[in-house]
Amino acid sequence: EISLAELDPEIASWIDAEEKRQRNGLELIASENFVSRAVRTALGSCLTNKYSEGGVGKRYYGGNEFIDKIETICMERALELYGLDSDEWGVNVQPYSGSPANFAAYTALLSPHDRIMGLDLPSGGHLTHGFQTPKKKVSATSVYFESMPYIVSSETGYIDYDEMERRAKMFLPKLLIAGGSAYPREWDYARMRKIADSIGALLMVDMAHISGLVAGDVAVSPFQYADIVTSTTHKTLRGPRSGMIFAKKQYMDDVNAAVFPSLQGGPHNHQIAALAIALKEANKPEFKEYAKAILANADALGQGLQKRGHILATGGTDNHLLLWNVRTLGLTGSKVEKVLELASMTTNKNSIPGDTSAINPGGVRLGTPALTSRGLNEQDFDHVADFLHRGCQLAIEAQDSILESRQEEGGEAASNKKVLMKEFLTE
Ligand code: PLP
Repeated sequence: EISLAELDPEIASWIDAEEKRQRNGLELIASENFVSRAVRTALGSCLTNKYSEGGVGKRYYGGNEFIDKIETICMERALELYGLDSDEWGVNVQPYSGSPANFAAYTALLSPHDRIMGLDLPSGGHLTHGFQTPKKKVSATSVYFESMPYIVSSETGYIDYDEMERRAKMFLPKLLIAGGSAYPREWDYARMRKIADSIGALLMVDMAHISGLVAGDVAVSPFQYADIVTSTTHKTLRGPRSGMIFAKKQYMDDVNAAVFPSLQGGPHNHQIAALAIALKEANKPEFKEYAKAILANADALGQGLQKRGHILATGGTDNHLLLWNVRTLGLTGSKVEKVLELASMTTNKNSIPGDTSAINPGGVRLGTPALTSRGLNEQDFDHVADFLHRGCQLAIEAQDSILESRQEEGGEAASNKKVLMKEFLTE
């Protein structure tokens, strides 16, 4: 059969280039990881050819004998990994990714325009937790449900649970949502359960970012507090891009119906098989070591930055990610992201507590899961901190020299330079 390189050299060469970029750079995006060869094999397998709408044993298509086996194993492994009793909890492993998993969870538990309350996006929450601005309902979850967020304290960067309680008692959401995309601290699920109970709300935990840390026993497990737990599977869990919804047994029929036929069609069987493999990997003792190393490395990276004079939101981290405050250096997250990218370090700009502009955030989010998978240890992360520090110095120098040349130079050369650098300055 004709190879990819022969059939489509253009795409083949871009895949090749991306593989090299991933290999040769320092991957510090907190939500990314490197999956095993076994997971990649399943993703590229014949399972991608198969339609299997429905659930195990009740499909709308024939030929699902083996698919049923794979999906069953995947569900069993998911429950086992998190120590869940199948009499109490169920799981759906069909969501295509984290966002559809969340939307399906909401439609399972709520009616249109019911109220939800999650962590605000600029405070480190995810879009799907109901994000909207005063001008626009940005996320579909804020279009179809009424959303009022809770926030982190602009002084400490920690979630303000007293304020959460005050808002919850005023807004009376039906669903309180824990979990975020850029929150470097442990969650107080017990407090959130209390708040939810005091207003008759359900508690959902979106553990997307930390599902590998929960599996590795280095983060508090949300299962003893939550009614429903959603997750992506491609972050700290180190699986394929996919989603899962765990729910207490009484909600499972509604969850299953919300995934199919309500939101999705045929499940992506190649992803489900790849997820089953990742769940098996995550249940090995080595994975616990991996999870511990992610945390130790995040701590080392944080300390490495702090000893070089940098400021971290909340003063450090309890998990795999750090929020690096570059605003106090007179920079923006976008500028630092850009300069670091030129030096083959991949990060992302992120808002930090106290930011006033969502378009020009003052921070950079850093994460250790991917480079920990590549075997870096705490000393290595001190070097990474040094690289980041030097990158940041370059950004400051670049900014200063552009500003100086703007003031001092005239003529065509200067205006060309201005055009070239305009992008950087407006970042
Ligand atoms: N939930 C959280 C907390 C996330 O951080 C993310 C992704 O970053 C999602 C949900 C959405 O996942 P996906 O990008 O797979 O749709």
